[in-house]
Amino acid sequence: MSKRVMIALGGNAITQPHEKGTFEEQMTNVGTAAQQIAKIALNGYEIVITHGNGPQVGNLAIQQEQGVHMVPAQPLFVLGSMTQGQIGYMMQQNLNNLLSDEGKEVATIITQVIVSKDDPDFQDPTKPVGPYYDEETAKRLGAENDWLVKKVRPSGDKPWRRVVPSPKPLGIAEASVIKKLVEDGTIVIASGGGGIPVFRNGEGNLEGVDAVIDKDRAGAKLAEEVGANIYLILTDVEHALLNYGTDKEEPVKEMTVDQAKKYQAEGHFKAGSMGPKVWAALGFVERGGEHAIITSLDKAVDALEGKTGTHIVPN
Ligand code: ADP
Ligand code: MG
Repeated sequence: MSKRVMIALGGNAITQPHEKGTFEEQMTNVGTAAQQIAKIALNGYEIVITHGNGPQVGNLAIQQEQGVHMVPAQPLFVLGSMTQGQIGYMMQQNLNNLLSDEGKEVATIITQVIVSKDDPDFQDPTKPVGPYYDEETAKRLGAENDWLVKKVRPSGDKPWRRVVPSPKPLGIAEASVIKKLVEDGTIVIASGGGGIPVFRNGEGNLEGVDAVIDKDRAGAKLAEEVGANIYLILTDVEHALLNYGTDKEEPVKEMTVDQAKKYQAEGHFKAGSMGPKVWAALGFVERGGEHAIITSLDKAVDALEGKTGTHIVPN
């Protein structure tokens, strides 16, 4: 039986930090990522892909704000669905061009991720989204749109941003259809940007909510729900490092769930970057997943063969 791998693509796979985010730039980057994924597919793995959307949703937020006098702005959760379509299109086309001769099909599923309104993050939102503003603009936009705005940088002329909750993913609304597709051999792109955050309202119906779910955490949930054997998190570093940022940096080749927790507690993996990836990886393994890997995009194939990367394994 072929192994099923859930792949989470980091920000660089779509827009590099120095880029503006033109269509051509994004298509080139997605093309590079698709080549790696195609190799994994040709090695016989069943594949589900998720991806970040930070720069894309940030740019869409600017378009909403600048165009508001001509067309109504859409809520953040709708922008999430728009970027799933945008990035899904680019990935789908690239994979299709590489794999259709091999008889492989590719599909993007608009994915809703269920959260609870009782999640503590709704009381104290912490995730910055969209553009940076000066204090006056931030407060005006906050009042006009009912946004929470916070000063997120200690200084500078635009240190303010909108902040939204980052609740825990409780379930993937489309998990069963994603699983059927992947069982049938289709490469599925899903849960982009951490998924569209939704909750069950008083009538028991799903409804969107302005929040951002961590994409590595949502990816771990999806990995679990589609029965993935491996959760492969692809970022811009080959290994998670101990003593990061010091002259005693040391790559972690393998760690058990308990070792990973110990390293987290010792502060080796930074909050907002490597920290959430290690939490997501160890969470997947702790809940019964076989194996999680953190490595860079260009090392994906080697890491699956056990030649490199940081491997997170059961205790
Ligand atoms: P992505 O955008 O690919 O999802 P991030 O940029 O959020 O990922 O996280 C990857 C970054 O985490 C690395 O480029 C590195 O700068 C940083 N980082 C923080 N702590 C560590 C660590 N202990 N080992 C390796 N990288 C780390
Ligand atoms: Mg990044």
